[in-house]
Amino acid sequence: MKQPLAEAKHTFFAADTIATRYWHRLEDGRIQCDVCPRACKLKHGQRGLCFVRACQDEQIVLTSYGRSSGFCIDPIEKKPLNHFLPGTPVLSFGTAGCNLACKFCQNWDISKSRELDTLADQAAPQELAAAALRTGCRSVAFTYNDPVIFLEYAIDIAQACHEHGLKAVAVSAGYMCAEPRVEFYRHMDAANIDLKAFTERFYRKLTGSSLGPVLETLQYLKHETSVWFEITTLLIPGHNDEPSELDALSRWVCEKLGPEVPLHFTAFHPDFKLRDPPPTPPETLTRARHIAIANGLHYVYTGNVHDLDGGSTYCQRCGQRLIGRDWYELSTWNVDAHGDCRFCGARLPGVFEPTPGEWGRKRLAVALHRRRAG
Ligand code: SF4
Repeated sequence: MKQPLAEAKHTFFAADTIATRYWHRLEDGRIQCDVCPRACKLKHGQRGLCFVRACQDEQIVLTSYGRSSGFCIDPIEKKPLNHFLPGTPVLSFGTAGCNLACKFCQNWDISKSRELDTLADQAAPQELAAAALRTGCRSVAFTYNDPVIFLEYAIDIAQACHEHGLKAVAVSAGYMCAEPRVEFYRHMDAANIDLKAFTERFYRKLTGSSLGPVLETLQYLKHETSVWFEITTLLIPGHNDEPSELDALSRWVCEKLGPEVPLHFTAFHPDFKLRDPPPTPPETLTRARHIAIANGLHYVYTGNVHDLDGGSTYCQRCGQRLIGRDWYELSTWNVDAHGDCRFCGARLPGVFEPTPGEWGRKRLAVALHRRRAG
């Protein structure tokens, strides 16, 4: 794998292992990783909870640089982002591991992987950007697992994307420390942040993390960056779908982040270690959407279901349907060349082009390089 730029920028210990910056030495000799609030304290040879960061030669290294669990071209609506280059294809990929431990993980085969052999595909940042360009994508998304844990690789890819006029999209749980957060989001154009619930109890019991740092990330994005971001809450029956919790969550979003931040309520399906709750009934999503709209949010969506009403974007001034959308597929398009309502001229917040993309809802697997066995 050719990595001229990366080689100039990073110290490589092996083909896919690089030195990192966010850590410090403890008095007892261990090294503490400072990327996320989990603050893993590691001895030589140990790996952090995320599995891809490890202690080696008295420092924290990233062991999955340039390696991926596979590439797919998705509609940008699948991230989900409804106000960012609608209808366009995005080259999506993940690595292995995760810094959260969600019992309901919908990508657990990747995020809980303890086998770096899961990372069968290889791509240097420039190759990845070139592949996105070649396949007609407008952006590259770090998704399937949280890019926070491989931030050095994600940043290099974002820079390569920008050189080609492509955008970089982070799909993250927002569980990150302040200093790396600044560096990471300086290179991102858009993000979808999971706000998994609105109670510390849920975060502690079902994700092994905490709510506070996630709320800090959301406020940081809103008030200190120009990153376009949307929020997703996966509604799990019996765990985070109480009207009172959704009332508090949407009230907080409106008060702290403003009414224009899109909020997506998406449907859960039983997976990984959480198989008891049933799939989310569509009416639960619709109820949540109505609560959030009543609390002042302008753009509230239902997801992972067929729901033209809940999936579409409406003008906040005249009420017309501006973008018809049903499970990632666009229909109506009433946004003018400036990104305004075609009927009354009201501004639609987001990143829009004069015409929508035509990717539809299909997924397409893409192979870059397969690792050789052995
Ligand atoms: S990024 Fe990984 S190693 Fe670092 S603190 Fe978080 S879980 Fe631990």
